[in-house]
Amino acid sequence: MKQVVLTGIRKMELTTAQVPAVISDGEVKIRMASIGVCGSDIHYYAEGKIGTQVVQYPFPVGHECSGYIVEIGAAVKNVKVGDLVVVDPSVHCGHCDQCLAGRPHTCRNNRFLGCPGQLDGCLAEYIVMPSFTCFPVTGKMTPVQAALIEPLTIGVYAVKLAGITNAGIDTAIFGAGPIGLSILMKLLADGLKNITVIEPLEYRLKKADEVGAEYLINPETGDVESMVKKDNELLMDVVFEASGQQEAVTNAVKILKPGGKLVLVGIPPDAQYTFDMDLMRRKELTVINVRRQNHCVEEAIDLVVTGKIDVEKMVTHHFTLEETPKAFEIVEGYKDGAIKAMINL
Ligand SMILES: [Zn+2]
Ligand SMILES: [Zn+2]
Repeated sequence: MKQVVLTGIRKMELTTAQVPAVISDGEVKIRMASIGVCGSDIHYYAEGKIGTQVVQYPFPVGHECSGYIVEIGAAVKNVKVGDLVVVDPSVHCGHCDQCLAGRPHTCRNNRFLGCPGQLDGCLAEYIVMPSFTCFPVTGKMTPVQAALIEPLTIGVYAVKLAGITNAGIDTAIFGAGPIGLSILMKLLADGLKNITVIEPLEYRLKKADEVGAEYLINPETGDVESMVKKDNELLMDVVFEASGQQEAVTNAVKILKPGGKLVLVGIPPDAQYTFDMDLMRRKELTVINVRRQNHCVEEAIDLVVTGKIDVEKMVTHHFTLEETPKAFEIVEGYKDGAIKAMINL
């Protein structure tokens, strides 16, 4: 089968690999239909690592995918051959303390699709996964929508962790990439209206506007705190950081009101942030870290199936598997208005 592998920094190749085999009773073989290029794939592509997770070359990346079931193990009940499925890229062990505590996303033995040293990625014609990672959506959505469920789950989970009980609160999102937009879409689906999006790229601000943000701020045009104050004098109840930038974190602390919550979703290029502790303490801010997602796949599917979220709005480009290097180049360079690029097989 065809497979795309990283072979060095900003280097990838289309190779041929053996079609993986269904080995255990609980596994399924999936023919890939659509694959999204994620910001974390770009970190592996451009930097060769995320934190302590370092790529050993050659390595196939990719974890946002949908596909068709072509073979099932003897014990598989939840999907059948021919089903279009959303694939949850996270494979948990089911028996560690985290799994038993209902936290499979922080499983001690977690293996994640396209994560170095764990599982080969999905930029290939076929993958084999445990059937519990597959959610059938045949006839309910397109393969592209199904592949977009994974990034959407991150937004759904981030909003869930923020614990918003009042749709009247003021929220802000730093970053209007796929994750920032997923958060925006989920907040809007929950009935929130007063949402500010802060993003330096004008084309991404425009997209946030299209999706339904109330206030748009380009941080390069002035002081973020004063720009926020103009329309929201009392500042923000909840701020979502989805850019991974220190400057955004610094501004987030400034634009939160006392008792506010800072939800950290973005992956910083270095493992460290600094915070203005004087401000953090005086305002008694809560910081919430988001690790991927936990139990949000079904909700994300439901939001798309019921039309509450038009997840395809974040897609700007479509490529074939052969064109994957081009897709990565465009996404990494923020070229040609890129937000979410899809690889369709
Ligand atoms: Zn992703
Ligand atoms: Zn576990």
